[in-house]
Amino acid sequence: MTGFRTRFAPSPTGYLHLGHVASACHAREMAGAQGKFLIRIEDIDMQRCLPRFGQALLDDLQWLGLASSEAILRQSDHLPFYRATLDRLRREGLVYACTCSRAQVQASAQGFAPDGSPVYGGPCREAVHRPNGPYVWRLNMEKALTRLGVTPSWQELDGRRIVGQAAAFGDVVLGRRDNGVSYHLCVICDDARQGITLVTRGADLFEATSVHRVLQELLGFPEPLYAHHGLICDEAGRKLSKRDGAESLRALREKGLTAPELIALARRVLSAGEIIPVGRNVDR
Ligand code: GLU
Ligand code: ZN
Repeated sequence: MTGFRTRFAPSPTGYLHLGHVASACHAREMAGAQGKFLIRIEDIDMQRCLPRFGQALLDDLQWLGLASSEAILRQSDHLPFYRATLDRLRREGLVYACTCSRAQVQASAQGFAPDGSPVYGGPCREAVHRPNGPYVWRLNMEKALTRLGVTPSWQELDGRRIVGQAAAFGDVVLGRRDNGVSYHLCVICDDARQGITLVTRGADLFEATSVHRVLQELLGFPEPLYAHHGLICDEAGRKLSKRDGAESLRALREKGLTAPELIALARRVLSAGEIIPVGRNVDR
Protein backbone atom coordinates (compact mmCIF):
# COMPACT_ATOMS: atom_id res chain seq x y z
CA MET A 1 0.00 0.00 0.00
CA THR A 2 1.61 3.24 -1.08
CA GLY A 3 -0.96 5.67 0.29
CA PHE A 4 -3.05 8.25 -1.51
CA ARG A 5 -2.25 11.61 -2.99
CA THR A 6 -4.70 13.96 -1.30
CA ARG A 7 -5.08 17.72 -1.23
CA PHE A 8 -6.38 20.54 0.90
CA ALA A 9 -7.59 23.31 -1.39
CA PRO A 10 -8.76 26.38 0.54
CA SER A 11 -9.80 29.68 -1.03
CA PRO A 12 -8.20 32.71 0.66
CA THR A 13 -11.44 34.62 1.21
CA GLY A 14 -11.05 34.85 4.99
CA TYR A 15 -9.22 33.31 7.91
CA LEU A 16 -9.20 29.55 8.45
CA HIS A 17 -11.70 28.23 10.99
CA LEU A 18 -12.17 24.90 12.73
CA GLY A 19 -13.95 23.43 9.69
CA HIS A 20 -10.83 24.01 7.61
CA VAL A 21 -8.62 22.48 10.27
CA ALA A 22 -10.82 19.39 10.23
CA SER A 23 -10.75 19.24 6.44
CA ALA A 24 -6.99 19.69 6.25
CA CYS A 25 -6.35 17.08 8.96
CA HIS A 26 -8.68 14.67 7.21
CA ALA A 27 -6.77 15.08 3.92
CA ARG A 28 -3.44 14.65 5.73
CA GLU A 29 -4.61 11.51 7.52
CA MET A 30 -6.19 9.91 4.48
CA ALA A 31 -2.93 10.28 2.56
CA GLY A 32 -1.36 7.93 5.07
CA ALA A 33 2.29 7.80 6.05
CA GLN A 34 3.35 6.69 2.57
CA GLY A 35 1.11 9.07 0.66
CA LYS A 36 1.34 12.73 -0.25
CA PHE A 37 -0.68 15.62 1.10
CA LEU A 38 -0.73 18.68 -1.16
CA ILE A 39 -1.79 22.20 -0.34
CA ARG A 40 -3.40 24.14 -3.17
CA ILE A 41 -4.55 27.75 -3.01
CA GLU A 42 -7.77 28.20 -4.99
CA ASP A 43 -7.62 31.94 -5.57
CA ILE A 44 -9.23 32.53 -8.94
CA ASP A 45 -12.02 34.69 -7.55
CA MET A 46 -10.16 37.99 -7.83
CA GLN A 47 -12.82 39.96 -5.97
CA ARG A 48 -13.10 37.73 -2.92
CA CYS A 49 -9.60 36.31 -2.55
CA LEU A 50 -7.12 38.62 -0.86
CA PRO A 51 -3.32 38.13 -0.68
CA ARG A 52 -3.32 38.76 3.07
CA PHE A 53 -5.70 35.83 3.60
CA GLY A 54 -3.48 33.68 1.37
CA GLN A 55 -0.48 34.48 3.55
CA ALA A 56 -2.51 34.03 6.74
CA LEU A 57 -3.69 30.58 5.77
CA LEU A 58 -0.16 29.46 4.97
CA ASP A 59 1.02 30.78 8.34
CA ASP A 60 -1.87 29.02 10.08
CA LEU A 61 -1.16 25.70 8.36
CA GLN A 62 2.49 25.99 9.27
CA TRP A 63 1.56 26.71 12.89
CA LEU A 64 -0.63 23.59 12.83
CA GLY A 65 2.32 21.59 11.50
CA LEU A 66 0.55 20.68 8.26
CA ALA A 67 3.15 20.93 5.51
CA SER A 68 2.57 20.32 1.82
CA SER A 69 4.50 17.28 0.52
CA GLU A 70 5.19 19.14 -2.73
CA ALA A 71 5.34 22.75 -3.90
CA ILE A 72 2.16 24.66 -3.10
CA LEU A 73 0.12 25.32 -6.23
CA ARG A 74 -1.55 28.71 -6.55
CA GLN A 75 -4.30 28.69 -9.16
CA SER A 76 -3.95 32.37 -10.07
CA ASP A 77 -0.46 31.55 -11.40
CA HIS A 78 -1.87 29.13 -13.98
CA LEU A 79 -4.81 30.82 -15.70
CA PRO A 80 -3.51 30.15 -19.25
CA PHE A 81 -3.33 26.44 -18.46
CA TYR A 82 -7.00 26.28 -17.43
CA ARG A 83 -8.06 28.40 -20.40
CA ALA A 84 -6.25 26.01 -22.74
CA THR A 85 -8.21 23.12 -21.24
CA LEU A 86 -11.45 25.04 -21.74
CA ASP A 87 -10.39 25.60 -25.38
CA ARG A 88 -10.37 21.84 -25.89
CA LEU A 89 -14.04 21.70 -24.90
CA ARG A 90 -14.79 24.76 -27.03
CA ARG A 91 -13.21 23.16 -30.09
CA GLU A 92 -15.47 20.17 -29.57
CA GLY A 93 -18.53 22.41 -29.49
CA LEU A 94 -19.32 21.53 -25.89
CA VAL A 95 -19.27 25.06 -24.50
CA TYR A 96 -20.90 28.27 -25.63
CA ALA A 97 -20.65 31.96 -24.82
CA CYS A 98 -23.51 33.36 -22.71
CA THR A 99 -24.06 37.11 -22.47
CA CYS A 100 -26.96 37.00 -20.02
CA SER A 101 -26.76 39.28 -17.02
CA ARG A 102 -27.25 37.85 -13.56
CA ALA A 103 -30.82 39.22 -13.62
CA GLN A 104 -31.54 37.52 -16.96
CA VAL A 105 -30.16 34.24 -15.68
CA GLN A 106 -32.41 34.48 -12.62
CA ALA A 107 -35.45 35.46 -14.69
CA SER A 108 -35.06 32.59 -17.17
CA ALA A 109 -33.92 30.01 -14.59
CA GLN A 110 -35.41 26.52 -14.83
CA GLY A 111 -35.38 25.89 -11.13
CA PHE A 112 -32.32 25.42 -8.98
CA ALA A 113 -29.35 23.09 -9.20
CA PRO A 114 -28.48 20.78 -6.28
CA ASP A 115 -25.98 23.41 -5.10
CA GLY A 116 -28.67 26.10 -5.02
CA SER A 117 -27.57 28.00 -8.12
CA PRO A 118 -30.16 28.85 -10.80
CA VAL A 119 -30.29 26.39 -13.71
CA TYR A 120 -29.60 28.31 -16.88
CA GLY A 121 -32.57 28.44 -19.21
CA GLY A 122 -31.63 31.32 -21.46
CA PRO A 123 -31.32 31.60 -25.20
CA CYS A 124 -27.53 31.80 -25.67
CA ARG A 125 -27.15 28.04 -26.15
CA GLU A 126 -28.35 28.38 -29.72
CA ALA A 127 -26.27 31.47 -30.64
CA VAL A 128 -23.75 30.77 -33.38
CA HIS A 129 -21.39 33.75 -33.16
CA ARG A 130 -19.10 34.76 -30.35
CA PRO A 131 -20.59 37.97 -28.86
CA ASN A 132 -18.82 41.33 -28.71
CA GLY A 133 -19.72 42.23 -25.16
CA PRO A 134 -18.79 40.43 -21.93
CA TYR A 135 -19.78 36.80 -21.65
CA VAL A 136 -19.24 33.62 -19.68
CA TRP A 137 -18.48 30.18 -21.12
CA ARG A 138 -21.10 27.59 -20.27
CA LEU A 139 -20.94 23.84 -20.67
CA ASN A 140 -23.76 22.48 -22.84
CA MET A 141 -24.65 19.80 -20.30
CA GLU A 142 -27.19 18.03 -22.48
CA LYS A 143 -24.71 17.73 -25.32
CA ALA A 144 -21.99 16.63 -22.92
CA LEU A 145 -24.14 13.87 -21.43
CA THR A 146 -25.24 12.75 -24.88
CA ARG A 147 -21.60 12.58 -25.93
CA LEU A 148 -20.77 10.45 -22.90
CA GLY A 149 -23.81 8.20 -23.28
CA VAL A 150 -24.18 7.75 -19.52
CA THR A 151 -24.04 10.03 -16.51
CA PRO A 152 -20.62 9.25 -15.06
CA SER A 153 -20.62 7.93 -11.51
CA TRP A 154 -17.97 8.06 -8.82
CA GLN A 155 -16.71 5.92 -6.01
CA GLU A 156 -16.75 7.07 -2.42
CA LEU A 157 -14.01 5.65 -0.25
CA ASP A 158 -16.65 3.94 1.91
CA GLY A 159 -17.51 1.73 -1.06
CA ARG A 160 -20.60 3.48 -2.40
CA ARG A 161 -20.83 4.02 -6.14
CA ILE A 162 -22.74 7.27 -6.67
CA VAL A 163 -24.59 8.27 -9.80
CA GLY A 164 -24.81 12.01 -9.44
CA GLN A 165 -27.28 14.51 -10.75
CA ALA A 166 -25.16 16.19 -13.40
CA ALA A 167 -28.17 16.98 -15.62
CA ALA A 168 -29.81 18.84 -12.73
CA PHE A 169 -26.94 21.37 -12.72
CA GLY A 170 -27.70 22.40 -16.30
CA ASP A 171 -25.23 24.51 -18.23
CA VAL A 172 -22.69 25.35 -15.54
CA VAL A 173 -20.24 28.21 -16.00
CA LEU A 174 -16.74 27.04 -16.92
CA GLY A 175 -15.29 30.44 -17.78
CA ARG A 176 -16.16 33.47 -15.70
CA ARG A 177 -16.50 36.95 -17.15
CA ASP A 178 -13.55 38.38 -15.26
CA ASN A 179 -10.84 35.81 -15.93
CA GLY A 180 -12.21 33.12 -18.26
CA VAL A 181 -11.96 30.24 -15.76
CA SER A 182 -14.14 28.82 -12.95
CA TYR A 183 -14.00 26.63 -9.87
CA HIS A 184 -15.37 23.53 -11.65
CA LEU A 185 -12.81 23.87 -14.44
CA CYS A 186 -9.76 24.60 -12.30
CA VAL A 187 -10.45 21.94 -9.70
CA ILE A 188 -10.61 19.09 -12.22
CA CYS A 189 -7.54 20.39 -14.08
CA ASP A 190 -5.49 20.48 -10.90
CA ASP A 191 -6.73 17.20 -9.44
CA ALA A 192 -5.63 15.60 -12.72
CA ARG A 193 -2.25 17.24 -13.16
CA GLN A 194 -1.34 16.88 -9.50
CA GLY A 195 -2.19 13.20 -9.74
CA ILE A 196 -4.69 13.36 -6.87
CA THR A 197 -5.93 9.82 -6.23
CA LEU A 198 -8.30 10.63 -3.35
CA VAL A 199 -10.27 13.88 -3.24
CA THR A 200 -11.26 14.63 0.35
CA ARG A 201 -13.54 17.58 1.00
CA GLY A 202 -16.68 18.66 2.81
CA ALA A 203 -20.09 17.20 2.03
CA ASP A 204 -21.17 20.62 0.73
CA LEU A 205 -19.32 19.72 -2.49
CA PHE A 206 -20.79 16.22 -2.75
CA GLU A 207 -23.26 17.10 -5.53
CA ALA A 208 -20.71 19.16 -7.47
CA THR A 209 -18.76 15.94 -7.94
CA SER A 210 -21.23 14.88 -10.62
CA VAL A 211 -20.21 17.95 -12.68
CA HIS A 212 -16.54 17.20 -12.06
CA ARG A 213 -17.00 13.63 -13.24
CA VAL A 214 -18.60 14.83 -16.49
CA LEU A 215 -15.65 17.14 -17.15
CA GLN A 216 -13.11 14.45 -16.29
CA GLU A 217 -14.71 12.02 -18.71
CA LEU A 218 -14.97 14.58 -21.51
CA LEU A 219 -11.30 15.47 -21.13
CA GLY A 220 -10.02 11.93 -20.59
CA PHE A 221 -8.78 12.76 -17.09
CA PRO A 222 -8.40 9.95 -14.54
CA GLU A 223 -11.17 9.28 -12.04
CA PRO A 224 -10.05 9.82 -8.45
CA LEU A 225 -11.71 8.28 -5.43
CA TYR A 226 -13.75 10.67 -3.29
CA ALA A 227 -14.26 10.96 0.45
CA HIS A 228 -16.77 13.65 1.39
CA HIS A 229 -16.71 14.33 5.09
CA GLY A 230 -19.34 15.81 7.40
CA LEU A 231 -19.43 19.52 8.05
CA ILE A 232 -18.84 21.26 11.31
CA CYS A 233 -21.76 23.54 12.07
CA ASP A 234 -22.45 26.45 14.37
CA GLU A 235 -25.11 26.46 17.08
CA ALA A 236 -27.76 27.32 14.50
CA GLY A 237 -26.89 24.22 12.46
CA ARG A 238 -25.25 26.20 9.66
CA LYS A 239 -21.96 25.19 8.13
CA LEU A 240 -19.13 27.23 9.64
CA SER A 241 -18.32 29.95 7.18
CA LYS A 242 -15.71 32.64 6.94
CA ARG A 243 -18.37 34.97 5.63
CA ASP A 244 -20.58 34.58 8.70
CA GLY A 245 -17.61 35.28 10.93
CA ALA A 246 -17.05 31.75 12.25
CA GLU A 247 -14.44 31.96 14.93
CA SER A 248 -11.10 31.89 13.20
CA LEU A 249 -8.24 29.63 14.04
CA ARG A 250 -6.36 32.83 14.94
CA ALA A 251 -8.97 33.76 17.52
CA LEU A 252 -8.90 30.26 19.03
CA ARG A 253 -5.12 30.45 19.10
CA GLU A 254 -5.27 33.80 20.89
CA LYS A 255 -7.55 32.22 23.47
CA GLY A 256 -4.65 29.92 24.24
CA LEU A 257 -5.44 26.73 22.34
CA THR A 258 -2.32 24.94 21.15
CA ALA A 259 -1.95 23.36 17.72
CA PRO A 260 -2.27 19.77 19.03
CA GLU A 261 -5.37 20.76 21.01
CA LEU A 262 -6.98 22.31 17.94
CA ILE A 263 -6.16 19.30 15.82
CA ALA A 264 -7.54 16.95 18.46
CA LEU A 265 -10.71 19.02 18.65
CA ALA A 266 -11.14 19.06 14.88
CA ARG A 267 -10.63 15.29 14.74
CA ARG A 268 -13.09 14.71 17.53
CA VAL A 269 -15.88 16.70 15.94
CA LEU A 270 -15.30 15.09 12.56
CA SER A 271 -15.14 11.53 13.81
CA ALA A 272 -18.19 12.01 16.02
CA GLY A 273 -20.45 11.69 13.04
CA GLU A 274 -22.07 13.65 10.32
CA ILE A 275 -22.88 17.17 11.37
CA ILE A 276 -21.75 18.34 14.74
CA PRO A 277 -22.69 21.70 16.20
CA VAL A 278 -19.68 23.50 17.56
CA GLY A 279 -20.49 26.31 19.93
CA ARG A 280 -18.55 29.51 20.23
CA ASN A 281 -17.07 28.42 23.55
CA VAL A 282 -15.00 25.55 22.41
CA ASP A 283 -14.97 22.72 24.91
CA ARG A 284 -11.37 21.71 25.44
N1 GLU B 1 -11.68 25.77 -2.78
C1 GLU B 1 -12.85 25.08 -2.34
C2 GLU B 1 -13.33 25.68 -1.03
O1 GLU B 1 -12.57 26.34 -0.36
C3 GLU B 1 -12.62 23.60 -2.13
C4 GLU B 1 -12.51 22.89 -3.40
C5 GLU B 1 -12.45 21.38 -3.29
O2 GLU B 1 -12.02 20.83 -2.28
O3 GLU B 1 -12.80 20.73 -4.28
O4 GLU B 1 -14.48 25.49 -0.71
ZN1 ZN C 1 -27.16 33.62 -21.91
